[in-house]
Amino acid sequence: MIALSLAEIIGIVGGQPHDIPDADRKVTGPVVIDSREVRPGGLFAALPGERVDGHDFAARAVAEGAVAVLAARPVSAADAPVPSIVVPDVQAALGALARAVVERLDATVVALTGSAGKTSTKDLIAQLLRRHGPTVWTPGSLNNELGLPLTAMSADETTRHLVLEMGARGKGHIRYLTDLTPPRLGLVLNVGTAHIGEFGGREAIAEAKGELVEALPAAAEGGVALLNADDPLVRAMATRTKARTVLFGEAADADVRAENVRLADGGRPSFTLHTPTGCSEVTMRLYGEHHVSNALAAAAVAHELGMSVDEIAVALSEAGQLSRWRMEVTERRDGVTVVNDAYNANPESMRAALRALVAMGTAGQAEGGRTWAVLGPMAELGEESLAEHDAVGRLAVRLNVSKLVAVGGQEAAWLDMGAKNEGSWGEESVHVSDVRAAVDLLRSELRPGDVVLVKASRSVGLERVAQALLEGE
Ligand code: ATP
Ligand code: MG
Repeated sequence: MIALSLAEIIGIVGGQPHDIPDADRKVTGPVVIDSREVRPGGLFAALPGERVDGHDFAARAVAEGAVAVLAARPVSAADAPVPSIVVPDVQAALGALARAVVERLDATVVALTGSAGKTSTKDLIAQLLRRHGPTVWTPGSLNNELGLPLTAMSADETTRHLVLEMGARGKGHIRYLTDLTPPRLGLVLNVGTAHIGEFGGREAIAEAKGELVEALPAAAEGGVALLNADDPLVRAMATRTKARTVLFGEAADADVRAENVRLADGGRPSFTLHTPTGCSEVTMRLYGEHHVSNALAAAAVAHELGMSVDEIAVALSEAGQLSRWRMEVTERRDGVTVVNDAYNANPESMRAALRALVAMGTAGQAEGGRTWAVLGPMAELGEESLAEHDAVGRLAVRLNVSKLVAVGGQEAAWLDMGAKNEGSWGEESVHVSDVRAAVDLLRSELRPGDVVLVKASRSVGLERVAQALLEGE
């Protein structure tokens, strides 16, 4: 973090100091909301949680070295004063502080949003840009009104690139985030059906995601909107921005595009990367064709920031997994391959993962290896839920997946029903009620050469299936 004195912080957040003996004392970071993450020189923000109230941990945070506490009410401890800055709204104060830190940076802010693939793409961008200069990026998926300011504040004078994932669960959310950390480069990946139940339709999702490009500076001031040429709703966002538009995708008119896309080596995408300055071959280490789009998005950002096509191609070919439970591939000693993609799921990512599973299974098929899709519910689909689960079940059959294990309640029943209604499937699809039953079934059925994909929405916790299958490895 850029060091700020308590006096400066009080000014920025408009707070009331309590028990602050020396307002010239500097906060050097980190700013944290979890008292267990406090480090000497940091600032602890006390937030009311669902089960615990951060104010109860204020004294401990100071004892562990926090310079002060950002709080909604004065805090005190029996034995010692607790230096605090009291504000009406701690979350808003964090936002104001993040904005002030970002204004003091000498870094290009890159923001990205989309329905599926934000974290994967953000990780790819970070892996490219960090070869070019000090880079700070969103850890994991901390893409909301709390995670974003905390990430932004972890940047300092040396940071050259700040890469921020922005999530939207409704209208106005992205605008709130871009106000805190105004990006110069804004990237929209896709408009899918994630959270469609909450949003009310694809157009509404596009409306909300497009707030990112509306927030960009004009072309003359360096604003760049990076848009997926293959997604009509994203492409159409070009009319909503004053920034220069750069298109990426497989479309012929894309500025940064992939040609000759193929899935080599059991599911690893390979393609020729074209940028306005040349072309180069890429073979990714990440699995699944959906990563082509993510890679092109990352390449477009890197190209804008001055990386050569060869540098980009090498970095994309070497990029590995950064955030967990996304197509994490582990081969067991007995030759069973487990693909843990249980971080989250929506219809787009289910389709992408099933395609990747089939590509990965091709190698083992000659020896009798089978592909297993162990799938659970996709949350937040609202009225579309039945149709979407049914469609994923049917797709598993059409793609020639060998077996479907649908885990969970009603939605899992719809997955199973889709598969059974699609064609000749009978025992190839099974519906089990919980993780334990799925693990028992798989343990007795799996054999060398099999590839098992595990995927569902976050709330289902289906990674437990993958973990159980990998116990002792
Ligand atoms: P969240 O909204 O939960 O933060 P996200 O947008 O950050 O999600 P990721 O975590 O990168 O997305 O990926 C979520 C799921 O989507 C993973 O299962 C991944 O395999 C799949 N996925 C990644 N990229 C794409 C893409 N371009 N299109 C479709 N699915 C994708
Ligand atoms: Mg994410």
